[in-house]
Amino acid sequence: MEYRELGSTGLKVSRIGLGGFAFSITTRKESERAIHRALDLGINYFDNARLYGTENKVGSALKGRRDKVVIASKCHFRDPREIESSLEKSLRELSTDYIDIYHIHDVKSEEEFFEIIKPGGVLETYERFKREGKIRFIGATGHDNQALVRILKTGRVDLVMGRYNPLTRDVENSVIPLTRRLGKGFIVISALAWGIFSVPAEAYPFEIAGKDFPAAEASFRYILSNPDVDVVLAGVKNEREIEELVTLLELPPLNEKEKARVVWDSMGLGKGSGCTQCGVCMPCPEGIDIPLYFRYMTYLKEYHSDQYPALTWQAYAPPFSKACTECGVCIERCPFELPIIETLREVDSIAEKMRHPTYRDEYD
Ligand code: SF4
Ligand code: SF4
Repeated sequence: MEYRELGSTGLKVSRIGLGGFAFSITTRKESERAIHRALDLGINYFDNARLYGTENKVGSALKGRRDKVVIASKCHFRDPREIESSLEKSLRELSTDYIDIYHIHDVKSEEEFFEIIKPGGVLETYERFKREGKIRFIGATGHDNQALVRILKTGRVDLVMGRYNPLTRDVENSVIPLTRRLGKGFIVISALAWGIFSVPAEAYPFEIAGKDFPAAEASFRYILSNPDVDVVLAGVKNEREIEELVTLLELPPLNEKEKARVVWDSMGLGKGSGCTQCGVCMPCPEGIDIPLYFRYMTYLKEYHSDQYPALTWQAYAPPFSKACTECGVCIERCPFELPIIETLREVDSIAEKMRHPTYRDEYD
């Protein structure tokens, strides 16, 4: 296993980390087996979030090995009292009395930024947790690079997590160089671009140095070739998937020509297959967060998880698709020609159903 110093935290973390969301579709036993295999292979970074609903699976699997691992979790609330109660729940579920890295989950708009930094706001609450020893370091996650840049510039977070893969490379010229300049950590989410790189090897092989690789491996190799990436999170479901991932660390980093080839091949893979969260369609004149809609569609399709989008949809309360005037600006911009307007409508009709009281009873 390859390890990195995570920014200026002094934490030594494995270059591959385990994301907690995938455990929402595995049983407790399967999750435990996967986590134990990851530990045996030297993985020591375990990411989670209150919203994933899997903290207890990870907490019980890590019992007895707490001092060997770095545990990260996230809170999506912005009200100090709700944050405090969310942290207490996370600590209980994770069976620990401290969380190594506590993230502000999904930072977005400029307006929200002021909410986060205001006196008595989110950052002050997190800083108090730090003084109380309940958390060790503060992180921020998000799909909006501008939001990550804003929060990094406050100097009050120790690391950020952003999306990065061969189809979504804008962090290379924004967030990543800034983390290096400020001595902060950088952790990668969306390594498989929301499942776009999860195609079977035979269906779309990537050629690297005369050998075929599955698209997922090509994406991981591309990301791992960037020396400024500290940890890449992987959502694995079983031991085999972890073993395959870890072997990628034994391969040499891609050279510039090989990286360019992976990017080129990825463009063909991306066309029509789904939203890469690249954000090129934005901004929408009506303030609709288009990539967010596609993320929720993925949750519904890939994870069969109704509960997660229901909860977060209510937490974020984005401007719904009825605000869409069908101006078509986003459609012209999207390089992958995705059916944006239809997707907005479809997700909202599911979300509407979720707000129905009988549906809520089913999942509460
Ligand atoms: S078509 Fe709708 S979603 Fe797209 S930019 Fe126009 S208003 Fe926004
Ligand atoms: S809808 Fe298209 S342009 Fe917008 S984030 Fe997704 S892939 Fe990118």
